[in-house]
Amino acid sequence: MKKVLLLDSHNHPINICGWKRAMVLLMKGKAVNARRLNDIESMIQIDNILIPSVIKLTYELAVPYKELPFCRENILVRDEFICQYCGEKFAPEELTLDHVYPKSRLGPDIWENIVACCKECNQKKADRTPKEAKMKLLRRPYRPNDYLKFEMKKYPESIVKYWLDYFEAS
Ligand SMILES: [Zn+2]
Repeated sequence: MKKVLLLDSHNHPINICGWKRAMVLLMKGKAVNARRLNDIESMIQIDNILIPSVIKLTYELAVPYKELPFCRENILVRDEFICQYCGEKFAPEELTLDHVYPKSRLGPDIWENIVACCKECNQKKADRTPKEAKMKLLRRPYRPNDYLKFEMKKYPESIVKYWLDYFEAS
């Protein structure tokens, strides 16, 4: 998990990159350390060199809007690995994806109709709507709108804590 937050030249987060790419950008002078130089604690140690946990581009870059891929992993991350019916947390392999409005009745494959669901709840609900099955959803499923904030959920607190300042500022 040696990841670096990349900011544009106006201090807005634009990407999360691997430490190797970060090092290339730093060495080519295309990016600089975004945090204070004496903030050693936030640096990532690779062998005997230190890499900043946040770097900032030294040039202007127009960043295209990035859409979050609609896939199983991202749905589970959005729902925090919690079954949206019984509210219990599960390991990823113990979770299924449930169509809130059943697929057999042409419920669509969209963020707003798919939730993480444990096998037991999925069996219980079967081909019914939550109302018909008398099962209540914890919350309405939604399409996550901030790609980077969402991606951050996949990284441990120990890395992300140095990134948060830049999200609040943007
Ligand atoms: Zn469940």
